[in-house]
Amino acid sequence: MLRNCVECNQVFVHPVNKLCPDCTKKRNELFEKVKEYIRTHPNARIHEVVVDTGVEFDLVREFIDEGRLKIVPVDVEFRCQICGTRLSAGRICNQCKTDLTLKGDGAANPESPNSAKVNNAGKVHFLGRRSRESRQRD
Ligand SMILES: [Zn+2]
Ligand SMILES: [Zn+2]
Repeated sequence: MLRNCVECNQVFVHPVNKLCPDCTKKRNELFEKVKEYIRTHPNARIHEVVVDTGVEFDLVREFIDEGRLKIVPVDVEFRCQICGTRLSAGRICNQCKTDLTLKGDGAANPESPNSAKVNNAGKVHFLGRRSRESRQRD
């Protein structure tokens, strides 16, 4: 199937991708950049990530929403995409997940490879959190 890349408008052939191979590659490089930055700057806020890596806010936010980043900036909020409830991780709250399952009207995406598999490595780590006790004076 012929498609136009949403990024550069180049025509390419792929059944599902919205980005051409060039842009996919570029995006992966940006992803690695963001990932590496957060890994080495565990206290970074999303704004600092954007400024220091030069990666657009929207793209950083997309990486986070896609669940690809295992470690996210300290001030990132996850919200349910349906009701907007604050979440500690993920994209849809348990309540909405249950509702979707009960309705079973096909609203849920049948093929979401990443959403279900978040057992061991899927936890979001807030590395910036330090215990206050260790700083207390005698
Ligand atoms: Zn492109
Ligand atoms: Zn919800």
